[in-house]
Amino acid sequence: MQYKRSHALFAEAEKVIPGGVNSPVRAFNAVGGTPVFIKKAFGAYLIDEDDNQYIDYINSWGPMILGHAHKPVVDAVIEKTKLGTSFGTPTEIETKIAQLAVSMVPNIEKIRFVNSGTEACMSAVRLARGYTGKDKIIKFAGCYHGHSDSFLIQAGSGAITFGSPNSPGVTKGTAQDTLLARYNDIDNVEQLIEANKGEIACIILEPVAGNMGCIPPKEQFLQKLRSLCDANNILLIFDEVMTGFRLAKGGAQELYDVVADLVCFGKVIGGGLPVGAFAGRSEIMDCLAPIGPVYQAGTLSGNPLAMAAGLAMLTELNSDKNIYDRLAEKTAYLHKGCEAILNKHKIPHTINRIGSMISIHFSDTDVVDFETAVEGNNDRFKGFFHGLLKGGVYIAPSAFETWFITDALSYEDLDKTIAACDTVCSTL
Ligand code: PMP
Repeated sequence: MQYKRSHALFAEAEKVIPGGVNSPVRAFNAVGGTPVFIKKAFGAYLIDEDDNQYIDYINSWGPMILGHAHKPVVDAVIEKTKLGTSFGTPTEIETKIAQLAVSMVPNIEKIRFVNSGTEACMSAVRLARGYTGKDKIIKFAGCYHGHSDSFLIQAGSGAITFGSPNSPGVTKGTAQDTLLARYNDIDNVEQLIEANKGEIACIILEPVAGNMGCIPPKEQFLQKLRSLCDANNILLIFDEVMTGFRLAKGGAQELYDVVADLVCFGKVIGGGLPVGAFAGRSEIMDCLAPIGPVYQAGTLSGNPLAMAAGLAMLTELNSDKNIYDRLAEKTAYLHKGCEAILNKHKIPHTINRIGSMISIHFSDTDVVDFETAVEGNNDRFKGFFHGLLKGGVYIAPSAFETWFITDALSYEDLDKTIAACDTVCSTL
């Protein structure tokens, strides 16, 4: 493979865009080399500017659950575009997607659309504070909830990858209102609540962590959080930006049968356009402006093109009875295949998987939280990443990300991926 055009484009980009990228996770700084510039994508594949083709496991970091350029989504956006791209007034399609989302997800009565997962989480926390009249929040080390100030405390995703889990620019005042807990450690949460009695507005978490690799919740962890929240008048916020409409129609709430008070969405809900949303019971959501005092707004929120993409995506997911089983079966197949290869080459590893989320950590201890996630062998990951890339398989350029399986992947693609894994593992 040659990357001549990607190299040239990156050199140009670096001159005018910090690091040459508009989101750090796209950079190759953690794995070495320069990022590949993509010019188009279809189904399970990406085509780069030098015409190299890859089987894609990033899938725009989650949204493309049905594959790239999925026809019903593309057609819906094209048709909407012809009618004008933004009006700054209410539109019918906002209500349609809201109705559909509310019908698919348990325990939500009202939903507000924003433009990103960051905005969704930031707004949900403000709403929780406004509703409860309390200031502090609990987040978990290694969970990522976007780049708003309160969350950049031991954050996951690019924040761990680039060694800045606590970002400069976040004031001490903001940081001190964010209490940090260990993922999957209920005793730790209980201690924090005890030590900050009556001061905690909400607990926010990824119900399945996806930003330190994939880490499912331990048995009863989510249920116990629910009980602690109920006993202490704390709102439980599920950040389902990754898991929403991915693990099940109703996301992690449905899969684990746990009720959250507020739920944040992003990624899949926008079908690849910039959409986020947060949702909950009317009693809480009605605290938002214009009917309540908690302010939250957006010039392009509910944008018609974004809503058209999202509505087409959710409609497809809602009408396909077997989609989540199919995705889980493909993911299990990949797991089994990669596991056999890693064992064959005697490479220490832990594979975590749930539904269509999977990750490989190069460590043989159980990966259950931030501390165990960072123990993996990152040098080995770099070789693994570049070997796969050369073999036509595109995974995230960081050991702390989840691979996303899409419905567009065929078993032939999965076999090719496993074969590429075999080739690279023989060199590690
Ligand atoms: N929450 C989670 C769980 C995420 O994975 C992400 C993005 N990876 C976000 C929030 C932030 O979403 P966005 O990048 O759309 O702002």
